[in-house]
Amino acid sequence: MTTASPTGLLPVLLAPYRDLTELRYDYPVVLVDGDPHVESLTDVTNRAVRRVAARGAAGESTRRRALRVEAAIRRRVAGSGRGPLSELWKLATADVLATCPDDAAFADQLDLVRNAITIDGTVLDCDEHIASDVVQHVWAALHEQAARRAGRRVDELILRLSGILEADEAHSPAGCSPERLSTALGGDHRADFDFEAWSALLRRRPDGAALPDTRRSRIRSVLDELTTQRFFPAQHRADDRHPQLFHSCVAAIDAHRERAAARARLVRAMAIAELEADNRYRETEHDGFFREFDERSVDGRDVGLFPSSLVTIGDADLSGDEHAALFELLGSELPIKVLVEVHDALGEPATHIGAPPGRTLASMAIGLGTAFVLQTASSHLFQARADLAIGLDAAGPALFSVYVPAADDESSLSPYLAAAAAVQSRLAPAFVFDPGAGTDWAARFRLDANPQPDDDWPSATVSFEDADLQHRSEPSAFTVLDVAALDPRYARNFTAVPGATSPDDMVPAVSVLRHGDPDADDWLPYVVMVSDDDVIQRLTVDRELLRRAQRVGATWRSLQELAGIRNSHALALLATERARWDDDDARERLAEPGAVDPEPAASPPAQPTTTIGPLPDEAPPEDAGPPSGQPWIETARCTTCDECTTLNPDMFAYDENKQAYIADLSAGTYRDMVTAAEACQVAIIHAGTPWDPTEPGLDELVARAEALG
Ligand code: SF4
Repeated sequence: MTTASPTGLLPVLLAPYRDLTELRYDYPVVLVDGDPHVESLTDVTNRAVRRVAARGAAGESTRRRALRVEAAIRRRVAGSGRGPLSELWKLATADVLATCPDDAAFADQLDLVRNAITIDGTVLDCDEHIASDVVQHVWAALHEQAARRAGRRVDELILRLSGILEADEAHSPAGCSPERLSTALGGDHRADFDFEAWSALLRRRPDGAALPDTRRSRIRSVLDELTTQRFFPAQHRADDRHPQLFHSCVAAIDAHRERAAARARLVRAMAIAELEADNRYRETEHDGFFREFDERSVDGRDVGLFPSSLVTIGDADLSGDEHAALFELLGSELPIKVLVEVHDALGEPATHIGAPPGRTLASMAIGLGTAFVLQTASSHLFQARADLAIGLDAAGPALFSVYVPAADDESSLSPYLAAAAAVQSRLAPAFVFDPGAGTDWAARFRLDANPQPDDDWPSATVSFEDADLQHRSEPSAFTVLDVAALDPRYARNFTAVPGATSPDDMVPAVSVLRHGDPDADDWLPYVVMVSDDDVIQRLTVDRELLRRAQRVGATWRSLQELAGIRNSHALALLATERARWDDDDARERLAEPGAVDPEPAASPPAQPTTTIGPLPDEAPPEDAGPPSGQPWIETARCTTCDECTTLNPDMFAYDENKQAYIADLSAGTYRDMVTAAEACQVAIIHAGTPWDPTEPGLDELVARAEALG
């Protein structure tokens, strides 16, 4: 499938992913029975090939041919195609063999690979149904496991209470013999019981004594409750369980309330049954308690015995009562799981409208502190499968907020790429809040599913030829502006710059997002796009959209703080401690014999250490402050993030405290310096002015440096 915006332009970082059917990645996925519930077709093929292909060059032919079948399946399911893996593999094999009908060895190799695939299940691409398909599949599997577990427990209690009544009716110790109990009652559960122990319990009453009427009546009443319950599957009875799948939070809560009395009766019946089965029921002790037992007596642990309900709902349906019901259940102990499919992450262009409601749900839900919360996009569902299972299996409520591009998404990107772009641009960042994972934020909150989670915006180096056919490489960040550039609703916020060369007063928009004032009008921010024939095209961005993008960046920054990334409190504390350390160090030096205090009357204020490298022609005088225009680093404030030292390890180096300084200015260009200054997360690299007047593109670089302040 070819992907591009309506204008045919793509953000430069998405260009390598134009044709997804030619790439191997997480999709399509296979929904399988059993853990892990969701497999990637890529992994399935890899495992099968590993089983049958010889190592090294000898197995290369088998590997390549299996990958051709995998690619044919990918093409068949691209868009909305779907079907069983076994069937699709057969069809795809036929597609591939049709290209070489006389190659019998080819067919044999593919048979071998097919026979090495040990699973089957529905193969799905990343389409508009994927979130509900995957979540329902995993939920149904876990729900059924929990229901069967509880159903077996109820069946066991029924069996044991029935045995008590039968033994009573037999009216003799022989009626309580292990053999009699086993023969009469064993059934499917014979192996689960210790009939000797059970018989001993039953014989504790005087031989031949009949059950008291009150006990017999209580057991019959409990048996009646257990055999007619509709929460769990029951032996020897048609499955008439309460429905647990909803498309409305209001309906799910109503159903929960309607069943509350029946749930309380079942909890009560199971508790009495346990006591009776063990001969531990004491009327003086228990009658009063169970007489008063009702819905209010059922606590979170009791509710946790019951399989969860699932609500699937679109963000457009979450207004008014539904929104209120969602937050009511997320703040409760109810085992209700909610999948919200967010179809519009960007929202309408008007500035007075905040973020679309669907995009803020998960962040708001975290504030409740009680519910499991997972936010992701359909492209990342496979990666999130383990967290998905944790949230679905956990006691209590859970929210899964998944960005799924609408089927009529006008960007015309493939649904996978549109969803991945939303995560990449921080528009729909992936995160997990698991209140059951610990007591502090470090244990409960994770952002690790995002690309480059430590940075404001993810970036990569892009190589291209400029207008002079010179090969160029420069770092390029992916931001929400790139996503907006693909959305026709935001077309008026962009202006194409004719030609491939940018005017001197243009700066990359990401520089403004990082450090600049979007309302300053002395330069033009731009994003870099690429056409179908790989020609670079710059689009300028207006102030309105820049402000909006900065708000997205601020929201991401808040999430980083929650995850402990560049936490502002920790950084402030670190700066204070460093200043104190410098201060103490200076005092100790002054206290040394022979030291001269230049200003003995007052303690010098703590100053950031400034370390500068030599200029190409002239070394700076020792201990001098940065001369005007000279590049410098506030070394004492360096957080050792590796950005500058990775960018140019000859130009930037760490001192003995592992803090950066300019080691050799002549080892890099002014472009390196400005790029490092833009990348520095604590904005402590001061680019100064260019030292080589012949360096190309200086006007642009100076503007970028000035934008940093
Ligand atoms: S980019 Fe900034 S914070 Fe990171 S190592 Fe360099 S100077 Fe230090």
